[in-house]
Amino acid sequence: MNLFRSMDIQSEPKKENTGNQSPSEHVKCIIIGSGPAGYTAAIYAARANLKPVLYKGIQPGGQLTTTTEVENFPGYTEGVSGPKMMEDLEKQAERFGTEVRWGIVTDVDFSKRPFIVIADDERTLESDSVIIATGATARYLGLESEEKFKGSGVSACATCDGFFYRGKDVAVVGGGDSACEEALYLAGMCRKVYMIVRKDHLRASSILQKRVSETPNIEILFERNTKELRGDKVLEEAVLVKRMGQPDESEEVIKIEGFFLAIGHIPNSDIFKKYLETDDIGYIKTTPGTTKTKIPGIFACGDVQDKVYRQAVTAAGSGCQAAIDAERYLSRQL
Ligand code: NDP
Repeated sequence: MNLFRSMDIQSEPKKENTGNQSPSEHVKCIIIGSGPAGYTAAIYAARANLKPVLYKGIQPGGQLTTTTEVENFPGYTEGVSGPKMMEDLEKQAERFGTEVRWGIVTDVDFSKRPFIVIADDERTLESDSVIIATGATARYLGLESEEKFKGSGVSACATCDGFFYRGKDVAVVGGGDSACEEALYLAGMCRKVYMIVRKDHLRASSILQKRVSETPNIEILFERNTKELRGDKVLEEAVLVKRMGQPDESEEVIKIEGFFLAIGHIPNSDIFKKYLETDDIGYIKTTPGTTKTKIPGIFACGDVQDKVYRQAVTAAGSGCQAAIDAERYLSRQL
């Protein structure tokens, strides 16, 4: 498993590209975000001669840089580490002329054309089109011990990392649709799957609840909160609090090697909300089957608009769609 963090990429001694220092520059296409969606959009946009400028954002490389080995991205027959895959995607995007910049887009103004994008609170860019690929951030419980085992027992993606826990005992935290789906997925390969649910009932849809209850190697632990994760180098056990805050509150320990968070994601859409439609969680709404938002010329792809699939390959696919949508939009503006 790889233990790299996004900081490893950030601190790379790489050619620093600080871009044009003039107060305002005009580009055809700005891509915000550097996960599989952003880089794929950049590859396609660059090849379509849109001369895209890509801002890497707070977590260069996106969520994959915090995950373990990626074995389900087509084409990597032996698997690849998340950071390596992101490096490859970045090089591929640059090869076709994408200008990849370190920096964070801190504000936008989509009320006028060209659109205004502010980078690092200080640089103003005008752009004829914008592709939003800012992703989503998995929620974690916030335990110190959770941090310790990220990449060596703790994961927020069963589809990405479940394979490493074949035949082992694992736990999934959460009681929603994602938690049930993750538990069902893991049940197919692990010996035992605990679901740690803080309430006395699941929030998930009834069909998923039924499937969970019919799966013999899933055990639901209701009214449990996680207090601590323990282990030497890798995760070995979790300390749970049963009926926290009740008179009969008690502690128990479960032996597990994998601890999967499924307590929701936070789409990184805050700065766009005043212009674009989002759902109640914050996912940007796009016209089904496209990456078009309600503002022509603004496109959204990857996890910031996808709460169902959330895979690197689906994000990459929608990044491709966004670049094609942007290219078609721009060609109609001429
Ligand atoms: P949800 O918000 O639906 O569920 C989150 C779960 O995590 C809840 O059970 C919640 O508990 C629990 N939780 C939240 N914070 C904590 C915490 N700090 N400690 C312990 N437990 C916690 O998120 P999902 O990701 O499951 O789903 C998001 C949306 O995506 C939903 O609308 C869902 O329906 C949809 N979705 C649909 C799928 C499908 O249709 N196949 C698949 C996946 C998602 P509590 O109930 O106590 O609040």
